[in-house]
Amino acid sequence: MIKKINKNTIKLIKFYNYINYNLIYNNKAINRYKKDIFEISGDKAESLEKLKRSISNINNCELKKNATNIVFSDGNPKSKIMIVGEGPGSNEDQEGLPFVGRAGTLLDKMLASINLDRKSVYITNVVNYRPPENRSPTDKEIERYLPYLMRHIEIINPKIIVLLGSTAMNAFIGNEEVISKVRGKWIDKKFGKCSASLIITFHPAFLMRQPAQKKMAWVDLKMIKEKKSKLKI
Ligand code: URA
Repeated sequence: MIKKINKNTIKLIKFYNYINYNLIYNNKAINRYKKDIFEISGDKAESLEKLKRSISNINNCELKKNATNIVFSDGNPKSKIMIVGEGPGSNEDQEGLPFVGRAGTLLDKMLASINLDRKSVYITNVVNYRPPENRSPTDKEIERYLPYLMRHIEIINPKIIVLLGSTAMNAFIGNEEVISKVRGKWIDKKFGKCSASLIITFHPAFLMRQPAQKKMAWVDLKMIKEKKSKLKI
């Protein structure tokens, strides 16, 4: 006797087929997910994937040896605003995403104050692996990861780049300057075919230690807001 299959059973079979396909046969599920959410072109998604692969193939790196996960980026790859932090901390290392700890909460508030969020900006760091004991990356480590960051910028092609803190500042303009002098100024720079305006501001972790500096960070945030509307981003 042939048993009739009811509608719910059919739905269940379809669902199992779907998750089997995505979880077993497609090992790129996460990237497809991001690509689909932000509808980025296949070329851009592929370039980002290739860059991520080359970073994860780095050899003889103390940072990578001690880290749990690569921390590549978060946010919208189509955004014209790119934010560059220092390097992952312990929460970021665990989750594989930048700025998910306390500094990240403050960063989210700073972004919200100028009507931005993680869907409207793209976030990465100077180094993609957590420096042990939460130390800052050394000059040598910054130098080693810089070509990857430059390529990352070229792929994203932002119009505004926000550098958070002195490690990001060092990576772009060297370590002869002090952040309190160079913050809050626009610097135009070319990265291959990409031309962008950079602004340096305080790192949220620094602002948590020195809340009196928040008023200066607010000045910088307002400059970003003005630039954004001037460039019609
Ligand atoms: N600080 C950073 O600079 N980057 C992170 O991702 C987290 C904290």
